[in-house]
Amino acid sequence: FPILLHFILHGRDPKFISPPSVLLLGPSGAGKTALLTLFERNNSTISSEKLTTAPTHTSQAPGTVSLTIPSDPSDNHPPKKFLLIDTPGHAKLRSHALSLLSPTASPESARSKLTSVVFLVDAAALADGDALPSTAAYLYDTLLALQKRMGAGRGSKAPSSIPVLVAANKLDLFTALPAALVKSNLEAELGRIRKTRSKGLLDSGVGADDLAAGEEGDDWLGEYGSEKFSFKQMLEFDIEVDVIGGSTTGDGPGAEKWWKWIAERI
Ligand code: GDP
Repeated sequence: FPILLHFILHGRDPKFISPPSVLLLGPSGAGKTALLTLFERNNSTISSEKLTTAPTHTSQAPGTVSLTIPSDPSDNHPPKKFLLIDTPGHAKLRSHALSLLSPTASPESARSKLTSVVFLVDAAALADGDALPSTAAYLYDTLLALQKRMGAGRGSKAPSSIPVLVAANKLDLFTALPAALVKSNLEAELGRIRKTRSKGLLDSGVGADDLAAGEEGDDWLGEYGSEKFSFKQMLEFDIEVDVIGGSTTGDGPGAEKWWKWIAERI
């Protein structure tokens, strides 16, 4: 009875439900901290009596900020809170970030639902080619983790799909690649990585038809056996990938499109 009473009293109390979360990934130097700072600053300027001011830095985890999407008079929705979870970009610390994508993991709290992933890349660093292999390798691992997550739900309840925003940052710099080129360069490199990592499988002459469903090709990203990789192939696993340019500092296009993308998926 006390448990029931507790549920009746608190079960639907918003205080007891963690807001949904968005995971921020990307290599060191891409601008994750700068983006967090920008979103926090823009958020704190939102003035509305209806908005219960959220403490910006929550006690949850370092690098996690609580943000609010203001109410929208046009579609009548109330203010919506979400957590933006920053992760270390350093290669040695990435496995923890990726473990948050496993079907059983729930970031921050058992009740917080991961609604999307923002993968931030440095479009200026990608222009000279040096950063491309390491950035794409991290993105490959991210997309593969999400693909496996969807596969793990086969037979049982399907996991909710998690869309990915590849945010091409630093477009204020004239040396930066435009978003369309960031997209095509990443797709080409992801295809190369896929080929290299699956060399054993392909050389053995095993074709897609010889494989039992869900058995092999598990480390193959996207459409099995396809020559070229494209982000569209992730739709086969119900994973939407968008590449959108922006900037967090300087005199550039800003981060509004990213904010909108995130807000639409909360
Ligand atoms: P993190 O390692 O991903 O957290 O990256 P930081 O947020 O520390 O940013 C790395 C560097 O890139 C810093 O010197 C930032 O000032 C710079 N930076 C971040 N975003 C932008 C941007 O949009 N344009 C430019 N020009 N520099 C940026």
